[in-house]
Amino acid sequence: MPIIKKSVPLPAVIDLDNIGPVTFVASARAQRLNISVKADGGIRVALPKRATLVEAQSFVLSKQLWIQKQLVRLQKVKQKAAQSAEEIKKLDIDKASAKISARLQELAREHNFSFNRLTIRNQKTRWGSCSAKNNLSLNIKLALLPAELMDLVLVHELIHTKIKNHGTRFWQKLEEICPRARELDRHVNSHSGLLHLPL
Ligand SMILES: [Zn+2]
Repeated sequence: MPIIKKSVPLPAVIDLDNIGPVTFVASARAQRLNISVKADGGIRVALPKRATLVEAQSFVLSKQLWIQKQLVRLQKVKQKAAQSAEEIKKLDIDKASAKISARLQELAREHNFSFNRLTIRNQKTRWGSCSAKNNLSLNIKLALLPAELMDLVLVHELIHTKIKNHGTRFWQKLEEICPRARELDRHVNSHSGLLHLPL
């Protein structure tokens, strides 16, 4: 049975069984008891005016599963970031550039696309782009993505040499070449954290 403290001045940090230290703060703005799990894993509970500390602690205990889920999710995000930073350290710019360029040419030949100029660089916000003049710009970090995700981005930009928007025709073409395009597109987005990491 967890020990519930009846009265301590707020803010207070109370170590709860199976949860760990929880910071309880009085909040003039909170309408009801409100738990948040911070990026550093800290757990904070805001108590509205009328709430008692006993109620707040019972509330936290009742939300134990939710809190644990948030902590696991945070852990995963941190692991992924650490892993990405490791991968980036290992990235060989020349090899990565050659790999992207060779694959782009292969896909262009295979699916009948042509483009003007290719620039491969470290962009902070996007995986690739295609200009009005069909100059392609691709992100060097594409080389860190799983092969099918890199392919999806390359095909995406190649299609832009013919279709400049993301309308129905664009998606039809993309799905014709990459059958799981929409699902893969979500996966690519889930890797976008890589973009902001320094090379
Ligand atoms: Zn696009």
